[in-house]
Amino acid sequence: MKSKNRVKCQQCKTQEKCCRLGVWVDLDAAKKILALGIKGGDFFHLEKDDDYPSGYRVGTSIEDESCTFYTPDGLCAIHKIDYSLKPSHCKEFPYENGKLSTIAKYLCVAVKARYRKKKSRSASK
Ligand code: SF4
Repeated sequence: MKSKNRVKCQQCKTQEKCCRLGVWVDLDAAKKILALGIKGGDFFHLEKDDDYPSGYRVGTSIEDESCTFYTPDGLCAIHKIDYSLKPSHCKEFPYENGKLSTIAKYLCVAVKARYRKKKSRSASK
């Protein structure tokens, strides 16, 4: 994707929408995140998944319709303490493996706005 067309997350004031569903994290990475001692931040649902380095993944818990690592000021608690431990899917979103994620149009405000604009342009033709 051309860089001028890339979504600029730093222009977004909140991660409220994109953090709504939480994220899958490698089990070993989750252990390191838990060691940060972030109040309220937690994981659930351990699953075997060979796509993850440890062979297992866990999901961040969801509370009040957002990830438990989401903070009231609209940012990620992990990101604030140690960016290197922020889940890779979160760092990459709204992209996934270099392409726009299939769920970005539901969770990303900027991508949703682009779809709306595109739709109204084609409706007015
Ligand atoms: S880990 Fe952080 S960036 Fe990822 S969904 Fe949770 S709050 Fe959002």
